Amino acid sequence: MSHQAEIRINELVELLNTYNYNYYVLDKPTVSDFEFDILLQELNTLEKANPAFLRTDSPTQRVGGEIIKSFKQVKHRYPMLSLGNTYSEDELKEFDNRVRKLIDADFEYVCELKYDGVAIGLTYENGILVQAVTRGDGIQGDDVTANVKTIRSIPLKLKGDFPQKFEIRGEIILPHAGFEKMNNERIEIGEEPFANPRNAASGSLKMQDSKEVALRPLDCFLYFLQGDHLPFQFHYENLCKAKEWGFKIPNYMVKCKTMADVFDFIKYWDKARNELKFDIDGIVIKVNDLNQWSELGFTSKSPRWAIAYKFKAEREVSTLLSIDFQVGRTGTVTPVANLKPVQLAGTVVKRASLYNVDFIQNMDIRIGDLVYVEKGGEIIPKIVGVLKEKRPENTIAFEFISVCPECGSPLIRKEGEAAYFCQNENDCPPQIKGKLAHFIHRKAMNIDSLGEGKIEMLYDNGLVKEAADLYDLKYENLIGLEKILFVNDDKKQKKLSFQEKTVSNILKGIEDSKNVGFERVLFALGIRYVGETVAKKLSMHYQNIDNIIKASFEDLKTVDEIGEKIAESIVNFFKNNKNLDTINRLKTKGLQFNATSQPVELISSALSGKSFVVSGVFEQFSRDELKLAIEQNAGKNVTSISSKTDYILAGDNMGPEKRKKAESLNIPIISVSDFLEMIR
Ligand code: NAD
Repeated sequence: MSHQAEIRINELVELLNTYNYNYYVLDKPTVSDFEFDILLQELNTLEKANPAFLRTDSPTQRVGGEIIKSFKQVKHRYPMLSLGNTYSEDELKEFDNRVRKLIDADFEYVCELKYDGVAIGLTYENGILVQAVTRGDGIQGDDVTANVKTIRSIPLKLKGDFPQKFEIRGEIILPHAGFEKMNNERIEIGEEPFANPRNAASGSLKMQDSKEVALRPLDCFLYFLQGDHLPFQFHYENLCKAKEWGFKIPNYMVKCKTMADVFDFIKYWDKARNELKFDIDGIVIKVNDLNQWSELGFTSKSPRWAIAYKFKAEREVSTLLSIDFQVGRTGTVTPVANLKPVQLAGTVVKRASLYNVDFIQNMDIRIGDLVYVEKGGEIIPKIVGVLKEKRPENTIAFEFISVCPECGSPLIRKEGEAAYFCQNENDCPPQIKGKLAHFIHRKAMNIDSLGEGKIEMLYDNGLVKEAADLYDLKYENLIGLEKILFVNDDKKQKKLSFQEKTVSNILKGIEDSKNVGFERVLFALGIRYVGETVAKKLSMHYQNIDNIIKASFEDLKTVDEIGEKIAESIVNFFKNNKNLDTINRLKTKGLQFNATSQPVELISSALSGKSFVVSGVFEQFSRDELKLAIEQNAGKNVTSISSKTDYILAGDNMGPEKRKKAESLNIPIISVSDFLEMIR
């Protein structure tokens, strides 16, 4: 038995450490939380029974998060632990018994919602936010102050009578509306959507450019005050006080004298959570008296004075009837499950996400199987398990399709990518229609008199096959066009017909789009991975389309925020003659392919005649901010180092090649503080 236990312990440690890595570092969970917690519990039990096999790298021994090397690491003044958790009422009663045994006095619990986001510790000194640190491994975390400062609900300056120095902890979350919006935008530019709001919030916080973080609709709920001079001896009362200082302390917490009250709170929120505008994954129960916290103490991973009761995600069983394959604008083929309709969390579910071929094959999902369907914060529900013991006879292992279901072209799968692609980007109908829909989008050319339905009509009638065709449309092509649309699950018909007014609106919208600025035209072209922000950066850097077309892979990589993946995609886009033809046609139609660069306002001539290369990552400023400062002080930005370069303004992670070149040419490498000194 003990040999078997050792094998299983080793197996579980490896498995759970991989799950932890996928969850915390990649922000891409590969199993449900419930499954993770069950395996962790199994490991815990085995380790307790066989302490000799306990491994130091066991996930039971440490808080699960990771530290990210690109941020400064900060040691927590007070360890930032996790919470013990349970899915069972009986275990909750055991927790209560343990607490009662150890505390020899009256006490109260505080019940709060368990917000499903990323833990953060905020330090305030003299009422000013001085540091924001993630949980990391519990002992030290990442300093993400610049990113956190962009979250509007976090006060930068407090009001009232706050202690001179304290830390407040809470959860950074992404409410549902923001999550959907953000994911839709990611899908738009061909990026993989986030699995759920928690992963999206975590991914956002890890971004290097805080201006980007500011665009993400993050929020923060605070739930825990720590410091040497707190106003009260009680957790609940401290939080109420912190609310007066300006913190977002949710109203959802209550004090409970008995376990019956605790269970009432749980029962209420298990239902009511569906109405919330953000995700919670359970309830946290904490002893209220801080003196009693000291009596109860901590385990290596979590406090003994608190526990999380986790809700099981709502889950139902249904039958997998068939699998559809959807082809997106960028050619990605996504499998979607058609299910026997089933009632789940208040809605009828008929379809579920299957993500990609690995997901289906790892789970060995087969048509005809009974499957578990779950609904969390995701846009569409997902399949989380298969009832293999109930598998009907004669099912066959799933094989991904090899040709595009829309145009018949062979599908390819690039190394390291999970998705299959249809490469026939110029002739595959959903790709063409998707590209056109992207082109007219509000954030691109903003032709709001056209929508997806109308684009479909124009395409189906052979009037538009690519963006440039829109600008050839004439009144006589459009008037009288008709289409019957099926809405509400094909039950209702709607006739779309182009009358006088519609036609003139369409033509006006198309004409007006000729005034849309270059950065949005660039975004509208639909280059894979070139979203709004990247388009802005490219337009600022290169000023016109010809410079971008000419730019090499290496040169593109020197632009802020542009890494190998984006640079490669841009180079490939402009290698395609069809794309160059489209651009030439659009140019002749009068679209904007030059940035109307606004002259930079000079602040001083301190850097007159000096040229700079800005390289690396900077803690306080983005590279663009530094480049702007150089120009505002009459300096010049250059992208590559030559003997004519006067200074290299270097941050962290400057490439070793660049450093070598600068040193060989004797070009001074200066820091941000040297630079600030020069322009003072
Ligand atoms: P946890 O999510 O179980 O609970 C602890 C955390 O709850 C705290 O650190 C805090 O951030 C948060 N919290 C929210 N509201 C709170 C409140 N009102 N008061 C106090 N804390 C509050 O623990 P964890 O350590 O963050 O994560 C571990 C869990 O993550 C696992 O139990 C598992 O469910 C999940 N996980 C899943 C996978 C996967 O692959 N699906 C992998 C690793 C971890």
